[in-house]
Amino acid sequence: MSDQVLFTNARLFTGVDEGVIDAGAVWVDGRYIRYAGLAAETPSAADGVRRVDLGGQFVMPGMTESHAHISYTNNGPGDLDKTPVEQAMVWSIDNARLMLGSGFTSAISFGSVHRIDVYLRDAIDKGVIVGPRLVASGRDVGATASNADLHPDHARPQMEGLGMLADGPWAVRKAVRTLRKNGANVVKLFLDGEGLSNHAPPGELTYTDEEVEAAIHEAHTRNMRVATHSRSAAAVKQAVKFGADFIGHANYLDDEAVDMLRRARDRLFVGPAIAWEIQFLANCESMGFTGEMARNRGYEREVEATVDAVKRLRRAGVRVLIGGDYGLNITPHGTYARDLEYFVDLFGLSPAEALLCATRDGGAAVDPAGMLGTLEAGKYADLVIVDGDPLADVRVLQNHRRITAVMKDGKFYRGLARGNPYLASPDDMAAPRPAAPAGPRLAEKVLASD
Ligand SMILES: [Zn+2]
Repeated sequence: MSDQVLFTNARLFTGVDEGVIDAGAVWVDGRYIRYAGLAAETPSAADGVRRVDLGGQFVMPGMTESHAHISYTNNGPGDLDKTPVEQAMVWSIDNARLMLGSGFTSAISFGSVHRIDVYLRDAIDKGVIVGPRLVASGRDVGATASNADLHPDHARPQMEGLGMLADGPWAVRKAVRTLRKNGANVVKLFLDGEGLSNHAPPGELTYTDEEVEAAIHEAHTRNMRVATHSRSAAAVKQAVKFGADFIGHANYLDDEAVDMLRRARDRLFVGPAIAWEIQFLANCESMGFTGEMARNRGYEREVEATVDAVKRLRRAGVRVLIGGDYGLNITPHGTYARDLEYFVDLFGLSPAEALLCATRDGGAAVDPAGMLGTLEAGKYADLVIVDGDPLADVRVLQNHRRITAVMKDGKFYRGLARGNPYLASPDDMAAPRPAAPAGPRLAEKVLASD
C-alpha cells in the first residue's frame, strides 16, 4: 500500500471537459490514477489508503509544453547554436527541472541543440535527473538558405549546434536517418522562415514538395513523428499534404489551409507559439531593433493574423496546443505558463478552454495511446496542485510559489522551481534539528515510509 495516496478536499479539474468538481478526490496507485471524481463516490476499496487533505486546493492534469526547446540557454535568437555543448547540457538539466516545476509534466521538443534532448529524455526516464516526459527531437533539419541556415557564408566555419542542412530528397532522408540513429523521436523540419530573416521570410518555401515528402515519409517509416515550422498558408499546406504530425506557428492561413487542417484534425496538432512575437514586439529595442523595424518585419501583422488563424482553427475543431519558443532571452525558461494567458487574452479562449489545450490536447499529442492529459482511472498520475484558481485567472500558473506540488508518473515533487535545491537559509543552520535533509532533496515522495 505504500505507493498509494488519496487526495481529498480538492477542487478538481479532470481535463475531461470544462467542468470542475468542488468536493473532489484523486486516488493514485503507483504510477496510475485509480479514481478521480466526487469525493463522496470514491470506491470503498480506497478506504485504507493514506489520505492527504488538500484544503480545497485546485488539482489539474499536468500540462504539456508542446513546442519545447529545453536545450536553449536563454540567449538571443541569432545565437542559438553558439553555446558550447557542455554549457548547453548543464543548463538543459536545470531547464528540465524548471519545466517540471512549472507544472509541465510533458514536453514535445521542437528542435534541440546537438543531441541534448535525447540524453535528457533518457536521463529523465531513468530517474537520474528530474524533468518532463520528453518527446525528443534532434537538430533542426532545413535546406540551404532556410531558417535552419542561420549564418552568412562568410561566417563559416559554423558551429555544429542546431541546424542540420540537407538539400535534395536523398540528403533529407539521410538527415532523418541520422536523427533516427541518434535516438530522436521527432524530426523538426523548416518549411518556411521568419520575419527577421533576410533570406527566409515567412511564405517563401525553403523546401520543395519532393523534399518534404521524402522527409516525412522517411520519418514515419523510421517510427518518428514530424514537427514543422510553417508560418504561411503555403508552408502549412505542404505540412498537411505530406502528413506532418505537429505544425508549429500556422500564423497566416487561407481558406484552403483551414479546410485541409480541418480534414486532418484527428491526426495532427497545431501550436501557434505566439510568445516569440509578443515578447519580440515588447522587447525589440533591447535586441537592437526599433519598433518600426519590428513592424516593417511584419511582427504586428503576424500577431493579428495569428489571432484570426487560431479562431478559425478552433471553429474548425483543430486541436491547438499551448507552448512554444520559451528558452530565448526574451522568453526565458520558467515562463511557459504565460502561454495560457495569451490563449485567454489574445485568442479569446475561456480559462477552462485554455487549460484543456494545455492538458487534454497536449497529452493526446504526446501520447497517442491516450494515457496522458486527463485525470481518469487508468491513466498515468501526472497532476499539478495549485494554491489558487486558474479558472478565475490563469495567470496564477505563472507564479511558481502557487504551484504547491507536481506529480509525474505517481512521483511527487515540491519546490522544483525554487532554484538551487541545496541552497540553505540561515534558519537551517540552527542546531539541533533532527532529520534535516542533507542530501539531494529534489524528489519528495508523499509517502515516505508507510
Ligand atoms: Zn521553435
